[in-house]
Amino acid sequence: MEDCIFCKIIAKQIPANVIYEDEQIIAFRDIHPVAPVHILVIPKKHIASLIDLTKEDEAIVGKIYTVINEIAEKEKLNERGFRVIVNCGEDGGQEVKHLHFHLIGGKKLGTKIVN
Ligand code: 5GP
Ligand code: ZN
Repeated sequence: MEDCIFCKIIAKQIPANVIYEDEQIIAFRDIHPVAPVHILVIPKKHIASLIDLTKEDEAIVGKIYTVINEIAEKEKLNERGFRVIVNCGEDGGQEVKHLHFHLIGGKKLGTKIVN
């Protein structure tokens, strides 16, 4: 989709530190990491938000979670754990309007999930 920064990353029009890619999914390091490991896992299909997810796309979300699990193992996060976050819409603090899953870990994270 035009003007979508993540679609541009998918199209290799702008660079990213890509750590996983298949036909449907791409994962790359967040440009402003909030923890030692901060990776964004996204569908290649432009889905603007979780709000826009339909039954048609439910399989891709399941696959994203297994990819997250594989990446977490490679990044050595599986022993101590990690967090997956999806910000959604205005109140959810979503800045980039292309569905993305934050995989965050490598340090003890705060216990508060809302602030
Ligand atoms: P949101 O607030 O929408 O859930 O998260 C968007 C995330 O995308 C932020 O953590 C931000 O740092 C990251 N981000 C925004 N633009 C770029 C970019 O051009 N490249 C990469 N790698 N990450 C980006
Ligand atoms: Zn997009």
